[in-house]
Amino acid sequence: MRPSGAIRWNRSHLSRPLEVCLSNDRNVDGNWAIHWLPSTSPLALSLPAPTRVVTSTAESTAAALLEPTRQESMVSGDRGSGNQIGGSEPQVLVIGAGLAGTEAAWQVAQAGVQVRLVEMRPVRRSPAHHSGEFAELVCSNSFGALSSDRAAGLLQEELRRLGSLVISTADQHAVPAGGALAVDRGRYSAALTAALEAHPLVTVERREQSELPGPHQITVLATGPLTADALAEQLRSFTGRDDCHFFDAASPIVEGESIDLGVAFRASRYDKGDADYINCPMDREQYLAFRQALLEAEQADLKDFEAESAHFFEGCLPIEELARRGEDTMRYGPLKPIGLWDPRWGDVNDREVRRANRAYAVVQLRQEDKGGRLWNLVGFQTNLKWGEQKRVLRLIPGLENAEFVRFGVMHRNTFLESPQLLDATLQFRQRPTLLAAGQITGTEGYAAAVAGGWLAGTNAARLARGLESITLPHTTMVGALTHFVAEAPCRDGRGKGRFQPMPPNFGLLPDLSERICDKRRRYGAYRDRALTDLATSLEQQACAPRTTSPHRQI
Ligand SMILES: Cc1cc2nc3c(=O)[nH]c(=O)nc-3n(C[C@H](O)[C@H](O)[C@H](O)COP(=O)(O)OP(=O)(O)OC[C@H]3O[C@@H](n4cnc5c(N)ncnc54)[C@H](O)[C@@H]3O)c2cc1C
Repeated sequence: MRPSGAIRWNRSHLSRPLEVCLSNDRNVDGNWAIHWLPSTSPLALSLPAPTRVVTSTAESTAAALLEPTRQESMVSGDRGSGNQIGGSEPQVLVIGAGLAGTEAAWQVAQAGVQVRLVEMRPVRRSPAHHSGEFAELVCSNSFGALSSDRAAGLLQEELRRLGSLVISTADQHAVPAGGALAVDRGRYSAALTAALEAHPLVTVERREQSELPGPHQITVLATGPLTADALAEQLRSFTGRDDCHFFDAASPIVEGESIDLGVAFRASRYDKGDADYINCPMDREQYLAFRQALLEAEQADLKDFEAESAHFFEGCLPIEELARRGEDTMRYGPLKPIGLWDPRWGDVNDREVRRANRAYAVVQLRQEDKGGRLWNLVGFQTNLKWGEQKRVLRLIPGLENAEFVRFGVMHRNTFLESPQLLDATLQFRQRPTLLAAGQITGTEGYAAAVAGGWLAGTNAARLARGLESITLPHTTMVGALTHFVAEAPCRDGRGKGRFQPMPPNFGLLPDLSERICDKRRRYGAYRDRALTDLATSLEQQACAPRTTSPHRQI
């Protein structure tokens, strides 16, 4: 049974809220008719019973991604009688109803594709979650800064414009939190659970998924940092042992622009290869003061399940533990000064000059992103509290004004070596019908997980409908994050430069066409460009003819 398909999109759809009314009346040729109308319009009210509203308002620029086929599939099987439609199998499987999986499942269903959402809670609990509700916020109730000239705020704003269910529900259940988007977590999660459970194209299954489905099943893997063991092991066999990590021992990352190159210098040890590192030299006095500060700094509390697994970190000790093991331990480890020379110190071949000027210890920073805007402190995995990291690491010469985009962590975290495995569409290269979303892809934070869920869900639905998958522009925060996880530089062949998870930050965005020194104005310019590019992409997508390329940037 085919619908009439007499739907046409125009630009006005992009700028105003839409409500969707489905009617089961037939048009003149006996086909199913479909009506896309504001539900308040007189015409909607006049539709024959049992017309009903399927989708409520989302200022849904995502509507731009709706094409007639999407609407056709909404109509073709749905008689509105429950979750299982027309007796056919759901087309997309989403594993995990956390932040990413909830958003992904919603986007699939909103695209008119049947989806099965498998969540193990409350049948099986994770070590950090407390409820059986979807998209539970495991710790803080905040999605980060609200203002769109902050990285988290920009990401939220883009997601709003993309019709994200999770962000619009967070907005509805926001509580006062200064400049942050914080929510009443109970009501917010309950509302999301109810929305998914009530959707006619969503089937919810409360069980642990222990196996990765085969290639015939379009699947979104969104099981998060605490993916249950059996599936994690499967994933490890599927990706290869080294491409699935269970623990995250990550060093802090700073913005390159905030490093003082009047003090720090670029060089590689013994001048081998290119000058790939930024080096921060210390004299003896500075080194001892830095070590003392490390020894006195406050540690973060480990969760019980992390404390149990602390022995996994023995091969990768926190910097404060190295400091504790002896006065010179760091100088024989990550702060080794040998072979590092700043030409500004004089002639390296002159023994006297060398003796007088050589550094007592050197902190090295390695490039984190393709554009060289983000730098990680090599060997500085740490368990210090975030405020303490900022205070102590700013004692390092050259990092006095460092802007941190990520602090060091050592915690349980299942995540993929994504640049080896995923495309920016979030599809596995080795199996394009398998997509990943959320923290398991190596993004960090609630809103970043929602962003991954949006893209993976959108692409899973497009695959189900035989459309090519999409990416978003690098200049948007959603696009920058998903491109980063697919394209970040990683292994250099010696097991170094391992991919590290990344939160949203402006360092991921390409340079602006003009240099703006004032930080607030610069961030505002990033925001303006991102939102303009997002709108343009969505408009192009709405008007673009179908292409045959494997995926296209919208
Ligand atoms: C202890 C802890 C504290 C954190 N605190 C913060 C914070 O304060 N702020 C912040 O931004 N981020 C925090 N994070 C990171 C946070 O987990 C992510 O930002 C976010 O929850 C990731 O979303 P996700 O959808 O990828 O994973 P999750 O939200 O964890 O969702 C994954 C879902 O998959 C389910 N699942 C797992 N395995 C299976 C399986 N085999 N079968 C079926 N279902 C399965 C889980 O039950 C869960 O519901 C924290 C993480 C942890 C572990």
